[in-house]
Amino acid sequence: MAEKWLVGVDIGGTTIKLAFISEAGEIMTKWEIDTDKSNNGQQIPTDIAKAIQTKLIELDQQKEKLIGIGIGAPGPVNFHDGSIEVAVNLGWKNFPLKALLEQELGLPVVVDNDANLAALGEMWKGAGEGANDLIFVTLGTGVGGGIISSGKIVHGINGAGGEIGHVTSVIEGGAPCNCGKKGCLETIASATGIARLAVEAITSTETPSQLRELYNEQKNLTAKQVLDAAREEDELATKVIDQVTLHLGLALANLSNGLNPEKIVIGGGVSKAGDTILQPVKEQFARFAFPRVLDGVEITIATIGNDAGVIGGAWLAKTSF
Ligand SMILES: [Zn+2]
Repeated sequence: MAEKWLVGVDIGGTTIKLAFISEAGEIMTKWEIDTDKSNNGQQIPTDIAKAIQTKLIELDQQKEKLIGIGIGAPGPVNFHDGSIEVAVNLGWKNFPLKALLEQELGLPVVVDNDANLAALGEMWKGAGEGANDLIFVTLGTGVGGGIISSGKIVHGINGAGGEIGHVTSVIEGGAPCNCGKKGCLETIASATGIARLAVEAITSTETPSQLRELYNEQKNLTAKQVLDAAREEDELATKVIDQVTLHLGLALANLSNGLNPEKIVIGGGVSKAGDTILQPVKEQFARFAFPRVLDGVEITIATIGNDAGVIGGAWLAKTSF
């Protein structure tokens, strides 16, 4: 019998990534469509269904070639019915994604949070290399995460498991977070947080830095500029990155003391800085981890980047249907 394919879909704020993936986890074809956020994103399930049908025709394949669809969406997922409770940047509220897509396509659909899918993708085909106990943290505009324990995503009682970005790092006087709390890891270790800390350091200290001139020109900074300066051992940028990696290492060590993971995988735009982030995180992790936890773990940078979501979606479909 001819091999069947899995479908991985990763819904983002500007594009939707799609892929047909073999049962061995090999990407057969991948493509993107624009995310249509007009009319509160109501059109999105139809767009996804059409994109899949069009691609099947293009490849001269029947719908029967597809086993099912694993789809990642931003925001908390209701696992009883595969609806999205709220996805602010898509305009969704109690949006029945699974039901709508199954109706459009007549194929089984499983839905999970996008960061959880990325964690599964890294576990299956990326830096996780099959590790059954894994912490994935993604450092982008925000800080997302996924925790895998004994091969299964930790969802918790109402879908908020693995929200690593909202571990409290600063107990008093922390910056406000999108979640409503203050001092979350996300306010420090996200790209936004790194840029904010650098601007604060420039405007409130005399520490010498090549970033001062950039800041005076742009009236702002990007995380990449701060990370590049830290790589060149700029004094102020190094202090900022020391603060970021202290809190990241501390949060990951505390989570690990409860989970005893085999791998910790760091992804997202900020992780592209490689050793500038990884080495100091490892040092801080070693300070705060229980010795036996430290012995068992390997901390690495994510390897499959933008494909992690669709590969994780395929894994979810493979293990669900
Ligand atoms: Zn928060």
